[in-house]
Amino acid sequence: MHPHFHDSHHRLHPSHSEKERIKFCYRCGGSLVEKFLMEENKPRLICSRCELIVYLDPKVAAGTIPQKEGKIVLLKRDIEPARGKWTFPGGYIDRGEVVSEAAIRETKEEIGLDVKVTSLLNVYSYPGVDVVVIVYLAEILGGELSPGLEAQEVRFFSPDEIPWEELAFQSTRDALRELLNRKM
Ligand SMILES: [Zn+2]
Repeated sequence: MHPHFHDSHHRLHPSHSEKERIKFCYRCGGSLVEKFLMEENKPRLICSRCELIVYLDPKVAAGTIPQKEGKIVLLKRDIEPARGKWTFPGGYIDRGEVVSEAAIRETKEEIGLDVKVTSLLNVYSYPGVDVVVIVYLAEILGGELSPGLEAQEVRFFSPDEIPWEELAFQSTRDALRELLNRKM
């Protein structure tokens, strides 16, 4: 449902590439130009016709790490980037959507499980990366573990089975490391 999530997640200099990509004002269709704004002390994209300041906000993504009897569920991605690498289920939050509900929805879509969020693990963000990732721990309520359209495989891992060399993203590594540093 959200094919661009991991794409931007993966980019090294997303703010830069996004500025190059966005050329027109969403309000009036005028051309955007980059101008240094004294009051904000940084360059912003401004519409040359209606003078709207176009802010490039971060994208917010949410995911869960479903847990059962000391094991966690990961999925093997079937889309680029990081195709064939492992991560936990997650994706973009829609505007107006409750964050924890988005995490639960993405989990159902990507691995087939119904989960209940039990706690917030942490929030992951990196310099120059335009996605903020919010990760919850979750308890499995039901459903059937099965890969969605964007996954090749889904399975349980005990802590000593986690494929550290085959994880998809920095946020995947950081979240799992943080989880293992706690009591699972
Ligand atoms: Zn405009």
